[in-house]
Amino acid sequence: MADELAKGATTLNQTSAIYKNIPASSFKYLCRQESNQKWMMRTATSSTGKWTSRLLPNIDIIQKFDKKTKPTKQMTQFLTGHGPTKHYLHRFKIANDDKCPCDGHSPQTMEHLIQYCDGWARERHLLMTQHSIQPNDLLDIGKILASNELTEDWLDFVTAIMD
Ligand SMILES: [Zn+2]
Repeated sequence: MADELAKGATTLNQTSAIYKNIPASSFKYLCRQESNQKWMMRTATSSTGKWTSRLLPNIDIIQKFDKKTKPTKQMTQFLTGHGPTKHYLHRFKIANDDKCPCDGHSPQTMEHLIQYCDGWARERHLLMTQHSIQPNDLLDIGKILASNELTEDWLDFVTAIMD
């Protein structure tokens, strides 16, 4: 497992300097679902790179995440930031603005959807009260992975939002 990750990391380090802010091994996970790696390379920006390394800041968390979860389209979208948010779609001129319909003024980013969006208030409240966590914890994957039940419920929550 560690060997495999190290090998992957070396290859990816050689492939692309653009990802130097991201732990390279996270892309082993991310690219498993991605049939067109080149598309990711081309569309990656430093802002989405920073998002990924915020979620998966070190190799311990990446390895734990890899062990406890199965890669899905929704998780890949969430982790890369290349997902169906208005903020993302607006950048590519697919949406007219980046505002979330929940309040009409907040930019609809991943962060907004997961931590603050009123559209997901009920599900978020359930998840947070059931596991005694705060909005900040919803993006702290290290903390999420510490509990198997929380991991499962969190995956359901994020997947539902990305769907
Ligand atoms: Zn919203």
